[in-house]
Amino acid sequence: MSGTARNLTAVLKKKGELVLEDTPIPKPGLNEVQLRVQSVGICGSDVHYVVDGKIGRFVVNSPMILGHESSGIVSALGEGVTSLKVGDRVAIEPGVPCRMCSYCKEGRYNLCPDIVFCATPPVDGSLRRFYCHAADFCYKLPGHVTLDEGALLEPLAVGVYSCRRGGVQLGSNVLVLGSGPIGLMCLLSAKAMGAAKIIVTDLDQGRLDMAKKLGAHHALRVDTQDSEEMARRVEAALGCKPEISIECSGAEASTQTGIYATKSGGVLLLVGRGRYHLLLPIVNAAAREVDIRGVFRYANCYPLALEMIASGKVDAKPLITHHFPLEKTLEAFETSRTGAGGAIKVMIHCDQ
Ligand code: NAD
Ligand code: ZN
Repeated sequence: MSGTARNLTAVLKKKGELVLEDTPIPKPGLNEVQLRVQSVGICGSDVHYVVDGKIGRFVVNSPMILGHESSGIVSALGEGVTSLKVGDRVAIEPGVPCRMCSYCKEGRYNLCPDIVFCATPPVDGSLRRFYCHAADFCYKLPGHVTLDEGALLEPLAVGVYSCRRGGVQLGSNVLVLGSGPIGLMCLLSAKAMGAAKIIVTDLDQGRLDMAKKLGAHHALRVDTQDSEEMARRVEAALGCKPEISIECSGAEASTQTGIYATKSGGVLLLVGRGRYHLLLPIVNAAAREVDIRGVFRYANCYPLALEMIASGKVDAKPLITHHFPLEKTLEAFETSRTGAGGAIKVMIHCDQ
């Protein structure tokens, strides 16, 4: 361990009050490892908790440590750990399910009612120097995969899962609505899975430019609330209707576009989260057998996400636009919140 043994930690005391303070260095329990946390990406949800103090049913009622897109270096082993050793570099899958319920047994552990997920109230996250995690939810990184890429596996896993639920395969035509970090990860995943053509939308030209740079075939700027018109433009640009649409903005108009744009018999994935009640042309979906599927995080996707990065099939690094040390966490959050300097993924470095 370099420097002092203090455990500098980013704690959200309450809505609007994010502070850095020392917390006890945790000891690894049974089947856990202690990690020297390395890279932690800021997610929109972290920013939401700071700004609004809640996301839907998850409310910050007591101080909570932020951070869930992270990588680390194993610094101590708890009893029973044989899969890792001290010094291993790992990506941390932030949700640890109960492993006992019917969902866990069916492999759909993202739906486990007892899942413990970093930085989802009241569970603490990993934005600190030292953190303990279940060893079987830590994935050893090959030497050529960076710790930043290890942290990016989290949003990439959302992309992988969304594409799997949508059935993206060789030759698919895919529409990604909203080109934030999650939409861009869906784009990268769809491309890696063999999609023939991918079209993305956004309000923001900077984000569309990034999507183009990452390999989108078409990037469409949304300049109207008329969702049927947007759907027509998608079809015109693509030359056909997409069989699979992945909604990653949460905006009502965008979700409507997702329904209108999808080919009859196709699939619309709901990844984005906006208002709780949306007005949608649901009969259009029903009459054309457009299946609408929910997406909640991911299950069993870290191994493939890691393979996609390790093999070089996916390069997610261009998404990282900013780096800050842990000491500058507040600045990092401000950059992520405002999107200053074209911020997409802001990375915090926790080791000294
Ligand atoms: P983000 O806010 O950075 O990106 C959203 C993008 O959508 C922005 O670039 C914005 O300009 C664009 N947008 C807004 N309105 C639009 C419209 N009408 N048409 C097209 N584009 C529009 O957020 P993110 O981190 O990329 O996450 C995307 C969404 O996914 C969020 O709603 C987030 O809560 C959700 N999310 C869901 C899961 C899940 O498990 N389902 C996981 C992570 C994030
Ligand atoms: Zn369970």
